[in-house]
Amino acid sequence: MSLPATITILIEDSVSRPTLKAEHGLAFWIDTGSHCILFDTGQSQLILANANELKLDLDAVDTVALSHGHYDHCGGLADVLANAAGEVTVYAHPRALDPKYRRTETGTRAIGMSIHCRRALYEGRHNLKTVTIPTEITPGMFLTGEIPRSHPEEQSEPGYCLDAQCRQADPFLDDQALFIRTSGGTVVVLGCAHAGVINTLDYIRHLTDDQPFHAILGGMHLHSASDERIAWTIKSLQQFSVKRFYPMHCTGAKAVAALWTAFPGRCFPCGVGTTMNI
Ligand SMILES: [Zn+2]
Ligand SMILES: [Zn+2]
Repeated sequence: MSLPATITILIEDSVSRPTLKAEHGLAFWIDTGSHCILFDTGQSQLILANANELKLDLDAVDTVALSHGHYDHCGGLADVLANAAGEVTVYAHPRALDPKYRRTETGTRAIGMSIHCRRALYEGRHNLKTVTIPTEITPGMFLTGEIPRSHPEEQSEPGYCLDAQCRQADPFLDDQALFIRTSGGTVVVLGCAHAGVINTLDYIRHLTDDQPFHAILGGMHLHSASDERIAWTIKSLQQFSVKRFYPMHCTGAKAVAALWTAFPGRCFPCGVGTTMNI
């Protein structure tokens, strides 16, 4: 199954031109011609301003899919839903709505979905669909649901917790990726890949009967990874057939540099405003 689509970055940590604004977070606008889909919403209402600047009609959004429940991926949700002209179907893992915390040098801080956004989901006119298993959200476009952890090398970064005292580590059950089956290969859109980018790609390859990857976009959460972990990730990525990489957000400068070195001609710069045709 395949479908034509364009993917435009609406929120990212960098911009592709100076009239747009960056923030730490991600949001992708996916236009299939018959559906307007957002994968993540960034952390604030900046998504509305960037869409306006890019002349993208955010009112027309009919589907929102959330990669996980961190504020930098779902913080713009309430504004997106309030702005939508019609009913929006929101896909998220049920654990994406749980409180989440990050341990810092000075204590812990809440990094989950705001009450404001949770209220918008439950009290509004919109339709929440929970996802735990692979789910087709529009023909040819899927969410992975929970990602099996098959590689012990991809341990979650410590300091992410489910409680304010940081007693219970966050297992990131809510972390999922979006993938699109096209005639040129699978396109994968990552949120933060807290489940591990190799675990994620392994699972998608399994779900797509070993179809090659046309493009991998998004965050790989390697910004504080060790040199060994980055080297292992690069070596593992070489075992996949990937035509194009668009590393962004939490991938981290060191891992981005390693990708550009390991895959010459196959890595591409990107930021808010970058559009990819599928
Ligand atoms: Zn993130
Ligand atoms: Zn995250």
